[in-house]
Amino acid sequence: MRTPAPESPLEALFAASGDLAFHLNATGAVTYAAGLDTAPGFGQTGHSVQSFFELFSDEDQARVHEAFDEAIGASKRVTLDVALRPEFTARFSWLLSGYGAGARRGVMAVGHQIPCKDLPAADLGMHDALTGLPNRMLLKDRCEQAIELSNRQDSTFALLLLNLKGFNKVNEAFGVHAGDDLLRQVAQRLLSHVRSSDTVARIGPDEFALLMPDMADPENMLKLGRQLLALTETAFILDDTEVHVSASMGFALYPAHGVTHEALLRGATVALKDAKDAGGGRCAMFNNAPRADARAQLTMESALHQGVTNGELYLHYQPLVDIEGQIYGAEALMRWNRGGTVPVSPAQFIPVAEDCGLIQLLGTWALKAATAGFARINREKNTALTISVNVSPRQFRGANFLQTVADALAFSGLPPSLLQLEITEGILMTDPEAAARLLTKLTDIGVQVAIDDFGTGYSSLAYLKRFSLSSLKIDRSFVKDLPSPKDLAICRSVFSMSRELGLKSVAEGVETQEQWHILRDAGCDAIQGYFFGKPQALSDFEALVDAQALPQMKAA
Ligand code: C2E
Ligand code: CA
Ligand code: CA
Repeated sequence: MRTPAPESPLEALFAASGDLAFHLNATGAVTYAAGLDTAPGFGQTGHSVQSFFELFSDEDQARVHEAFDEAIGASKRVTLDVALRPEFTARFSWLLSGYGAGARRGVMAVGHQIPCKDLPAADLGMHDALTGLPNRMLLKDRCEQAIELSNRQDSTFALLLLNLKGFNKVNEAFGVHAGDDLLRQVAQRLLSHVRSSDTVARIGPDEFALLMPDMADPENMLKLGRQLLALTETAFILDDTEVHVSASMGFALYPAHGVTHEALLRGATVALKDAKDAGGGRCAMFNNAPRADARAQLTMESALHQGVTNGELYLHYQPLVDIEGQIYGAEALMRWNRGGTVPVSPAQFIPVAEDCGLIQLLGTWALKAATAGFARINREKNTALTISVNVSPRQFRGANFLQTVADALAFSGLPPSLLQLEITEGILMTDPEAAARLLTKLTDIGVQVAIDDFGTGYSSLAYLKRFSLSSLKIDRSFVKDLPSPKDLAICRSVFSMSRELGLKSVAEGVETQEQWHILRDAGCDAIQGYFFGKPQALSDFEALVDAQALPQMKAA
C-alpha cells in the first residue's frame, strides 16, 4: 500500500499521529488528510473526504457536531467513539483537539483504528427501533472497544445500568403508546446529559446502559448517578398528564471490577440489585469485597428478628447541652443485647436492619418510646427538654413516615417543637425534591430536623439552604483531633455559615473540657459528647437533669 510522502516534518508528524488524521477548519471541512489510502474502506472506495461530518451517518450527526463544537469552542481535547457510516468497514476511536482563536480556529481529528475481527459490515440490527439507541449487541461491541482502548491508553471506563421503576404502571394506566413515549423521553434526557464520548444503550424493556470512558473515580460516578436519578425523577408529560417515575442504578468500573464485557455487566447487575434492595431510587457501585459476610449478615438478621421478639432492644439517651453546659435535651440511641447478653454496636446492626427492612419497625418503635418518655419527663419535671431521634434513609423514604411522626406526637402528647429528627446528608442527596417536600411538611407540623454527621457526606452548606432544617451536627471526626488547625478552621467556617443560614450548630463527640472551650470560642451553639454524659438509661438521664438547675418550662 502506498502512503504519500510527507511534504514537511510537521506533516510527517501529523501522519504518524494516528491511523487516520484530518486537519479541519472551523466548519469541519478537511484541509489536510493523512492515512486515507490505507484506512479500510477509504482507499478501496476512492473516497475523497470533503468534510469530517460526512463520515458519519445521519443519526450520529448530532453527537459528532456536539463533540466538534466542544473541541473547537474550548480549545480542548474531546474523545469521540461513534461508528463511521456502514461502508467504512473499520472502526475508529477519535480524538478531537481544538486550537487557535477567531478565524484561525481549527481541529485536529486523529482516528485510531480499533481492531475488531468480527465487526459486522453494517450497523443494521444493532439499534433499538423505538429509541434509536444502540442495543445490547452494539453495547457489547462498544464495551469491547472501550476495553481495547483503555488497555492502550491505560485509562478506565464505567458501565452503568439504569432500571426504570414505574414503567409498567405507565403502560397499564396510559397504554403502550404512552409507555413508548416515556422511553423515548428518558432516552432523550439521558443523551442530553452525557458527554459525546459516552454511549447510551437500551438493553431491556425498561433498562438502559451507559458506557462512560475516562471514568475512574467512584465518587464522580455516584455524583453522576444522582444527577441521572434526578433526571428520571423530574415529571414527564404523557398525554398532557404529569407522570412520575424513578430509577435504580448500578455500575462497575473497568478494570477494577472486571476485565471482560461479561464480568462488567455481571458486576453492574449485582450493583443494580443492591440499589433496588436498598429501597430503589439510588445508585450503587459494584462491591467486590468477598460476599462471605453475606452469611454473617443473614445470621445477624435472624438474630435481630429474634431480638425484637424477645425484647432485647432498648434505648439509651445521651445529653445534649448548650454551649454553657446546660442540658436542653437528649439524643435517643438504640441498644441491642444479642441473646440478652452480648452488646452489639448500632453501627453494626442498624445497617442490617436497614437492609432487611426491619428498620421501619425499629425506627417507629424508637420514635414512639422516645417521645413518650420525654413527654412524661417534661410533664413530671415541668421542663421543655428536646428529644432527638435518628431516622434511617429507608424509614425517611417509607410511605408512612409523616404519619408515623404525627402518630408518635399525638400518642405521647409531646409538643412537636420538642421533637428533633436526625437525618444524614445522603437522604437529601438521593432524591432532593422528595426530601424537600417531606421536610417542608415536617416543619409545617412544627418538628425540628437536624443534619447528622455533617461533613462526612458530599453536600455543602450552600446545598443545604434549599431544605427546611433547624440544626447541623458536625461530625465527631472534625472534633476529635481539636485543636488541630485544619479541623479548627473547618469547624469555624461551618459554625459561621450555619449561623448565617439560621441553623443551630451542634458538635458531636466532645470528650474533653479543652475541646468544649475551643468549640465555644469557635462559635459553636451546642455540644454532645462523653464529656457531658455518655448514652445512658432514661432513669440515669433524669437524675442528671435533676442535678442541674434547669430553667422551668413556662408553658406546656
Ligand atoms: P450517631 O447518630 O452519630 O450517634 C452518635 C454516636 O456517637 C453514638 O454511637 C454515640 O454513642 C457516640 N458518641 C457520642 N459521644 C461520643 C464521644 O464523646 N466520643 C465517642 N467516641 N463517641 C461518642 P452509637 O450509640 O454507637 O451509635 C452509632 C450510630 O448508630 C449512630 O450514630 C446512628 O447513626 C446509629 N443509630 C443509633 N441509634 C439509632 C436509631 O435509633 N435509629 C437509627 N436509624 N440509627 C441509630
Ligand atoms: Ca445521630
Ligand atoms: Ca452523628
